Amino acid sequence: MSSILTDRHGRFHDYLRISLTDACNLRCQYCMPEENMRFMKRSHLMSADELDTLAGLFVQHGVKKIRLTGGEPLVRKEAAEIIALLGKYPIELAITTNGVLVDQFLDVFQNAGLRSINVSLDSLDPVVNRSITQRDHLDLVVRNIEKLARTGYRVKVNMVVMKGVNEFEVGNFVAWSKDLPLHIRFIEYMPFDGNGWSSAQVTTHQQILEMLRDRFAFHKLTDGPNDTARAYQVEGYTGTFAVISTMSQPFCETCNRIRLTADGKLKNCLFSQGETDLLSALRAGEDVEPLIRDTLLAKHARLGGQLSDNYLDTDPELLNNRAMISIGG
Ligand code: SAM
Ligand code: SF4
Repeated sequence: MSSILTDRHGRFHDYLRISLTDACNLRCQYCMPEENMRFMKRSHLMSADELDTLAGLFVQHGVKKIRLTGGEPLVRKEAAEIIALLGKYPIELAITTNGVLVDQFLDVFQNAGLRSINVSLDSLDPVVNRSITQRDHLDLVVRNIEKLARTGYRVKVNMVVMKGVNEFEVGNFVAWSKDLPLHIRFIEYMPFDGNGWSSAQVTTHQQILEMLRDRFAFHKLTDGPNDTARAYQVEGYTGTFAVISTMSQPFCETCNRIRLTADGKLKNCLFSQGETDLLSALRAGEDVEPLIRDTLLAKHARLGGQLSDNYLDTDPELLNNRAMISIGG
């Protein structure tokens, strides 16, 4: 399909992730810089109408799926309004959230036809959870996840696996999906501005599978053509688990994702150095379509042209990017 959303490598991008805010009600250490976090001014955020205008343009050019993210998307004052506005498009609407506020939004999700929710949770141990998030919401988040799963939402639970922090819990997460339709996803730890990443803290896809083999008999499931997660299922389990192996086995060849930050900048890759200011152009009454096309044409073949193919050679000091919390994961 030829479109302004096709890049030089023939990849068509029909999946847009939109960040609603860089603010958050948790303080996950791997996501936010420990120092000098400067939050965006409200006037720099896309308004609900501006976001809707840009989203509509992407849909017109072939976007089939929009995922709302952040920061924490549900702390944005206009979150309900934005979800309702996007509910009118003929797309799959999804959200990634830390789960703290989801029970307050069930009607909003229902009315907008939003059925797919990714909830991030990195530890089921209260002490570890508190030390990662700097907050005490574990019980509430677990309750919310189980409620979503029992009421028919498609629920993925995202766990960032960090060596020496929570990697010993992967089996407990899988065990949680025995009788509940939870899709557990283990994410390899990635480097972003100010998150103190080192390659030694990455627990790889292979290492995760080895840890799980000690406890479970599982088989490989078939993945979709653009899936970033490689999925498995334990024999007799209701749920599944998967690994997102960005560091050890990147999946750039089939990438179909682009990202719009809360301040209206288009990023052609999670690791891109460059970003294109669509919001200022929109506010100035300019045509943003050529900007979108040029951003796609500038997309590197792999890892934003920044990370090394072998993650062990990646020097986080040399990366030029935002913090994850202000990109929108
Ligand atoms: N606040 C929401 C949440 O936590 O789900 C949405 C935003 S958060 C930035 C989106 C996803 O990025 C979460 O699943 C989070 O765990 C993941 N993430 C953040 N920093 C990461 C890192 N350094 N490596 C891997 N995943 C990361
Ligand atoms: Fe907030 Fe999500 Fe980042 Fe945690 S991972 S600090 S919940 S944005």
